Amino acid sequence: MIVMKFGGTSVEDAVAIRRLVSIVRRQSHRQPVVVVSAMGKTTNGLLECGRMAAAGDIQSAQNRLDEIAAHHFKTVDQLARPEEIESLREALGKRFIAIRATLEEIDKNGQVTPRLSDAISANGELLSSLVVAAAFRADGMNGVWVDVRPMMRTNDDFTRAAVQFDIANPKLKEGFTAALAGGGAPVTQGFIGSTSDGVTTTIGRGGSDYSASIIGAAIDAEEIQIWTDVDGIMTTDPRIAPDAAKVKTISFAEASELAYFGAKVLHPSTLLPAMAKDIPARVCNSRRPEADGTAIVRHAPPSRALGKAIAFKRGITVINVASARMLMAHGFLSRLFAVFDKHETSIDMLATSEVSVSMTLDDTRHLDAIVADLQSLGEVSVERDQALICLVGENLKFTPGVAARIFSSIEQINVSMISHGASAINVSFIVDGAAVENAVRALHREFFSELDEETFEAPALAQAVG
Ligand code: ASP
Ligand code: MG
Repeated sequence: MIVMKFGGTSVEDAVAIRRLVSIVRRQSHRQPVVVVSAMGKTTNGLLECGRMAAAGDIQSAQNRLDEIAAHHFKTVDQLARPEEIESLREALGKRFIAIRATLEEIDKNGQVTPRLSDAISANGELLSSLVVAAAFRADGMNGVWVDVRPMMRTNDDFTRAAVQFDIANPKLKEGFTAALAGGGAPVTQGFIGSTSDGVTTTIGRGGSDYSASIIGAAIDAEEIQIWTDVDGIMTTDPRIAPDAAKVKTISFAEASELAYFGAKVLHPSTLLPAMAKDIPARVCNSRRPEADGTAIVRHAPPSRALGKAIAFKRGITVINVASARMLMAHGFLSRLFAVFDKHETSIDMLATSEVSVSMTLDDTRHLDAIVADLQSLGEVSVERDQALICLVGENLKFTPGVAARIFSSIEQINVSMISHGASAINVSFIVDGAAVENAVRALHREFFSELDEETFEAPALAQAVG
């Protein structure tokens, strides 16, 4: 058994879905469970409808929804067997009727509650999976649509629900084993789940990767494949450094750090379930399926390269708490952390000096309340629009002088917080948001100008699409 997950651009239209079908067909002997995202831009479109309805503009919301519906119907017409088109149009139509009803409820409420937001956005995956399963059948495979919701049990923290693994794992295992047993090619949804009361939830934006890994771990898959529109994990974002190269093999730990610190290829939690079961993952380009992609394994083969890749995150907020008197005092940090705990906000990076503590956040929903609470601990200042840059590589652990090389390569740029993570496989620091591109380019030049061919594939071969 393997899990093959296809992202939004890999299911965006009939051409993309035909490509997907041929990719899956080639591996059909491995018993694939196919997990799909919503068709490209659908999730954003659905959420936009919700916002329009909340703003009282139900007409615009309906019009926007009509566009989304038209694209889905057109794709079905292009892909499905003629004798199935009518029943599929009916199945999709039912979903759109349900979405319209939710939009009307939002219009009445005047707001999109998290629960209603999920009731809308979950439809992207429910729709795309119907279309993909039909495309399999049109190609002679036994495409079976599987509703993941009764199996993927979550709590009721709508829009960012947590999966309850003790319940979900056995259900997923049983459900997919049964779906495969009859020679079926199951197609299911990423991103969504349901509560014990059967209410639809979503597990956070970009969560389909994570779903795929959860399913892979639950069914003890041989491999989890993440099909996307880039060649794999790159040394950095090729839009910023056009000479970015593909990383051939990377460890779970390295890939997790990269995902956590902003590399957009994988949702940050993706690898956790795979790691726990030691299931290798692979990131592949559905537009160049013959390429190897990036293999993600427990132990990457030894590499001469110091770093594997550079990730960065924009829109970071830095909070500084200065308190000469209290910092050394017993219990200070625990009181500080208690504030973040209370507001359910996690700190990405932390640096302390004798008189101050600096922390970075990317979730600023509770910023005002956090600042108000921190004021009882010291003088608080907030810097917005910062960026976090992170160089990742297992060899960083063993190599002295890395920090010096990093900072001399970006000498002209003002660096404000530096951290060499506890795992010691990353060095991260903060720069002003406006400086991030220059800093990443300079760092990339310093560490990735000479490529170790065992570890990297040169950019002439590896090229990012889209
Ligand atoms: N469709 C969802 C989103 O756009 C989940 C995903 O694509 O991973 O966030
Ligand atoms: Mg994604």
